[in-house]
Amino acid sequence: MKQIVCLSVAFLLINVIYGQRSQQKFEFVNFSKVAITDNFWKPKIDKVASVTLAACIYQTEVATPRIRNFEKVARKQGEKHEGIYYDDSDVYKALEAMAYALKTHPDSALEKKADEWIDKIAAAQLPDGYLNTYYTLGDINKRWTDVEKHEDYCAGHLIEAAVAYYNTTGKRKLLDVAIRFADHIDSTMRVANKKWFSGHEEIELALVKLYKTTNNDRYLKLADWYLAQRGHQYYSYGKNWITPEYWQDALAVKKQSEITGHAVRAMYLYTGAADVAAITGDKDYMNVMEKVWEDVVYRNMYITGGIGTGGTAEAFSVDYDLPNENAYCETCASVGMVLWNQRMCELTGESKFIDVLERSLYNGSLAGLSLSGDRFFYDNPLASNGQHKRREWFGTACCPSNIARLVTSVGNYIYGKSEDGIWVNLFVGSNAGFQFGKTNVKVNMQTDYPWNGNVKFNIDLAKRTKFKLNLRIPGWANGEPVPGDLYKFLNYKTSPVTIKINGKDVRYSISNGYAVIEREWKKDDVVEYAIPMNTSYIVAGSQVKYDAGRIAIQRGPILYCIEGADNNNEVWNIITPTSTVFTPENKSILTEPVVALKGEALSAKPSGDGNSVIMEKRNITAIPYYAWANRGVNDMQVWLPVKITDVKISYQSIYKDGGNY
Ligand SMILES: [Zn+2]
Repeated sequence: MKQIVCLSVAFLLINVIYGQRSQQKFEFVNFSKVAITDNFWKPKIDKVASVTLAACIYQTEVATPRIRNFEKVARKQGEKHEGIYYDDSDVYKALEAMAYALKTHPDSALEKKADEWIDKIAAAQLPDGYLNTYYTLGDINKRWTDVEKHEDYCAGHLIEAAVAYYNTTGKRKLLDVAIRFADHIDSTMRVANKKWFSGHEEIELALVKLYKTTNNDRYLKLADWYLAQRGHQYYSYGKNWITPEYWQDALAVKKQSEITGHAVRAMYLYTGAADVAAITGDKDYMNVMEKVWEDVVYRNMYITGGIGTGGTAEAFSVDYDLPNENAYCETCASVGMVLWNQRMCELTGESKFIDVLERSLYNGSLAGLSLSGDRFFYDNPLASNGQHKRREWFGTACCPSNIARLVTSVGNYIYGKSEDGIWVNLFVGSNAGFQFGKTNVKVNMQTDYPWNGNVKFNIDLAKRTKFKLNLRIPGWANGEPVPGDLYKFLNYKTSPVTIKINGKDVRYSISNGYAVIEREWKKDDVVEYAIPMNTSYIVAGSQVKYDAGRIAIQRGPILYCIEGADNNNEVWNIITPTSTVFTPENKSILTEPVVALKGEALSAKPSGDGNSVIMEKRNITAIPYYAWANRGVNDMQVWLPVKITDVKISYQSIYKDGGNY
């Protein structure tokens, strides 16, 4: 305890010396303090800990040469690097997911495997701290000469894994490896004033984690240095899609106002900028990010919370260019949306960021992981004619371990605390225990969310304490599916949320999208929070030509789709007039219990002679979008036509077989 107090004082002193004050309105409670107990996330976390991680480990060390590259460096026998230059990052990201899983699912065999990997990684580090198997097995003299080779990106994932593994196990070996590498990078880059920037952002946010773990401000300065390196266009690149905009290098970060380029890179950049701004109080980053965030959410986001339009560049397109069949929506990009929006909410205390986070988490991200836990999507389209098949792995395998680390640490996004309040952002059955001021708080949350909007909390305090309880009112429960005008509910009837404490209705104020109850809380107080959960239609803004004359269906935070497996494999001829009434019904998709929506719609078929179209009434079933493509290849649509004139009869895809990454 004494040591912790000393560290806190030291941390405070460092912040005072460098004029840094936390700019956060509140901070999220770490997942390690939150035991998830519900029927939605807990089975998913269990499955990732067992099945998904086993798949990642098999692919990383058996089926592909990723681990073997590290072994080759240690053998020093002049063997060649195999695979792609950024493959080291997949090892680190799998290790990070293993570290999170070990926190909630102690497993000596898994920990032994992680230690084995860490020994191999440490053995591949050069005496000067450099660590990258592509250059160490190749031409070491060419290291740090090509920003596209992802050296900083791989270093960032190494740092994140090292911090995660240290936090779970207390073992320092990987952390010390990461520190030596970070010191090498700092000397080579910032101290030497090298003209350099990270070709794929990631190291910025990782260095902030390293700073928070070590209290060494060298890493914070290096993170800030990396942010300041953008916009100088130090490197032009031969490939035609790699423009300065592609890697957010056209303008200095502090001058940016529009989202550009590669979607995952952009998300990691702004997450890192938010992390730095939270500590340094740099308002310029905050001003920029609010503008860029609006550009994403108001003009460039899919209704799934996914981002990025198809194509080699995996990038944002022009405003409102959101094709459904060719949506790129990389799983990693949705994970990045979760990360960035979490930071934006911490900085502003505004719930609109959690509205986007929730949409990306429950829809765009979760769709990337099969219900079986061992198949993955890289791109997540909003319509398919059956060419999209989940895969065991990818040549570029960033997505599997990314969704694994997100699911295993989903407890990070639920509770928050500030000096004067406790915040509930997501509704997930769980037991949380954390320090709040001078007292300990235990919160037990019970709910069947996302299928039901009733949430019950038991609050257990060591002593009576006055504070504000901030309960997020989801935007979708307030008539707004997303902030801005890109998507709107059609004829949405709102009814207010209700809150009871110890069985009695209470009045609450509303602040920044949260219902706020300020009182002196005591042991065993019970809060019942009811969020009305209706089935609603969503329409897109008229600028989105792909969604014209179409509706999407949402219930609670869950976006729905029509899949062939539930609809006689006839998806593309369905018409859903806006009068269609959907009724919730419990259903199982494989072993996944979901609420499906059933309704009577229309289908269009050619007459026997082929000269006319026959409209027929037809029962249809909509399922949660995240659960699609788990019963073989299937046709699927999210946006459904409301009139026969909008039925699409031809289908084109840029992908021959669901994206060959
Ligand atoms: Zn990815």
